[in-house]
Amino acid sequence: MARRKKIYEGKAKILYEGPEPGTIVQYFKDDATAFNAQKKDVIEGKGVLNNRLSEFFMTGLNNVGVPTHFIKRLNMREQLVRAVEIIPLEIIVRNYAAGSLSKRLGIEEGTALPRPIVEYCYKDDKLGDPLVTEEHIAAFGWASQQDMDDILALALRVNDYLSGLMYGVGIKLVDFRIEIGRVYDGDYQRLIVADEISPDSCRLWDLETGQKLDKDVFRQDLGNLADAYTEVARRLGVMPKQSTHMAKPKLIN
Ligand code: C5P
Repeated sequence: MARRKKIYEGKAKILYEGPEPGTIVQYFKDDATAFNAQKKDVIEGKGVLNNRLSEFFMTGLNNVGVPTHFIKRLNMREQLVRAVEIIPLEIIVRNYAAGSLSKRLGIEEGTALPRPIVEYCYKDDKLGDPLVTEEHIAAFGWASQQDMDDILALALRVNDYLSGLMYGVGIKLVDFRIEIGRVYDGDYQRLIVADEISPDSCRLWDLETGQKLDKDVFRQDLGNLADAYTEVARRLGVMPKQSTHMAKPKLIN
């Protein structure tokens, strides 16, 4: 059988050419990186968990009318998604102060923000994904004004959906990052949620104890990352009976 064509390999995922034009196979690796890949490890089972969790969030968003790239899950580590033209921005939505916002503005971690704050970072690993303003985005042509209106609307809808979903299972959605892609349907183009939504790209705190259940566990050496992600999956009813320690995922290449 001919080997699939690899399109791109990132820090946590590999993209392969999909079976139909306009589709891509997204493969979730077990690699964990932080601080722009200065800290690295392999966390057994992380790829399997993120594949399932991203499927769960993206399917839910599709069902409530927020368009995403997700088509279907193919196996433990792979999902079929629509090919998109990625907008070169990381879109961050924050409900509580944490991470770089706390550091930059000196606001204590956990402080509730008066309203959700949306930030944009320019996607460039070499530059460390710097924070940019809408002025930069317009001046350098990374997205049009119409795109920015659509991106803001999508980001806030994702925030509403995910915050409610998480609250229902006793988890506070502190912040998250999404990526947005452009697709063409005939003569029309529109923007959809792309990449992944998983505990790698969100901050999730237990509502009662404040326990961190996201990638900060890895960034700050707070314990076992796969255990934290398994807890999120368990509460959401994703992979309820399966422990990542028991079922060693089969590698599919
Ligand atoms: O580090 P910072 O506080 O700016 O991160 C905000 C949110 O965006 C966090 O949930 C973090 O996990 C996510 N993020 C990400 N990818 C990046 C930068 C931040 O998923 N490159």
